[in-house]
Amino acid sequence: MHKNVFSVLWLFFVVSILRVSAQGENYTIIVSLDGFRWDYPALYSTPNLQKMAQIGIRAKSMKPSYPASTFPNHYTLATGLVPDHHGIVNNSFWDSVHGIRYSMNDSTTRNNPDYYLGEPIWITAQRQGLKTGNVYWVGSDIAIKHTHPTYYKRYDQKPQISFAARVDTVVSWLKMKKEERPRLIMLYFSEPDGTGHHFGPHSKEVAHEVHLLDSLVGDLMTKIKSLPVAPKVNVIVTSDHGMTEISSDRFIRMKDYLPARWLERTEGANPTSLFIRSGCRDSVLLVLKNVAHIKAYKKEEMPASLHYGTSDRIGDVVVCPDCGWQFGDKPSPNKGAHGYDPASPDMQVAFYAYGPDFKRGYVSNGFVNVDVYPLLAHLLGITPEKTDGDFNRVKDLLKK
Ligand code: AMP
Ligand code: ZN
Ligand code: ZN
Repeated sequence: MHKNVFSVLWLFFVVSILRVSAQGENYTIIVSLDGFRWDYPALYSTPNLQKMAQIGIRAKSMKPSYPASTFPNHYTLATGLVPDHHGIVNNSFWDSVHGIRYSMNDSTTRNNPDYYLGEPIWITAQRQGLKTGNVYWVGSDIAIKHTHPTYYKRYDQKPQISFAARVDTVVSWLKMKKEERPRLIMLYFSEPDGTGHHFGPHSKEVAHEVHLLDSLVGDLMTKIKSLPVAPKVNVIVTSDHGMTEISSDRFIRMKDYLPARWLERTEGANPTSLFIRSGCRDSVLLVLKNVAHIKAYKKEEMPASLHYGTSDRIGDVVVCPDCGWQFGDKPSPNKGAHGYDPASPDMQVAFYAYGPDFKRGYVSNGFVNVDVYPLLAHLLGITPEKTDGDFNRVKDLLKK
């Protein structure tokens, strides 16, 4: 009897050791489809994502961090820190320490590593001896901590690699000999965000684009399947933020409420950071308090749920329009926008994954995008930095 118990325990011990070492040896690919709202697979044709959910997992939705925009959230996915902590507090912001405007569209500021705080996962992995590959993830072509991914592409270099060729780049990395092969691969596509802005999330153009991206995901899955390394490859497909319909009817003109003499400068849209002349902050707040469809907060009194307001790159007052509303100088000609409170359903994103470490046919109730960094660290078998994320919120996705 005792002997039997001992044998069972011994077997359990050996199996756990094998599982730990297997987890440490697998390959992980994370794909970001910019602006891929959580419910696009329910609205549009996505047979390959449905297949992923069958053979792997999906989350009902994943919540982005505030503000729900591209640079803040891709860098959150990479670092596990909320934008307030990693420093990329919006796609553009006022650097009050140096008196410089940072913008993702200005390559001098965008490529300055000093703006990027925290540690992206590719650096954590490389410090621990792993190789990484990266196609266009925010921050990957910037010398953060004097480091680049082992293999990467410059976003600025024209022409950009076509969507199909990006898939082939990933596959070519997986074909490298073992010593050279990257264990973490990150892959970025700027759609369906562009089409979502232009035509709105409920358009035939977005339907078409979502279907095309789903086919690319299918192409990636098929090509991986034919490789000898296939049984060791985990694949995640997710996004940075969702998309909501906007209209020029839902617009609040800033100068109808705020005289220029009250303001030092205003920066960004959704949210708008107001840097205010001394002595004028109470007047600004008093006026904006009564304006419907926007919320104006002192930076130190932002709602805790937004995790926003400690960075010196954020204005004295932050104006947050309600989801689908705009605040600024003039309404956008676009039909879709994002940047709103991550609790708004339209801001949330899709999350699908499959591979040796993921359960099969499992549906998670959802989690927050700061949890992706600890998830990746776990899949890679490396020690994560301390972040705003929590592995406990995502461990249910994985096989025991
Ligand atoms: P957004 O204004 O938040 O919709 O930003 C989306 C845009 O961010 C895309 O259309 C890209 O042009 C840009 N973008 C995404 N990744 C990068 C990158 N790694 N480097 C420079 N620009 C990028
Ligand atoms: Zn985006
Ligand atoms: Zn966008």
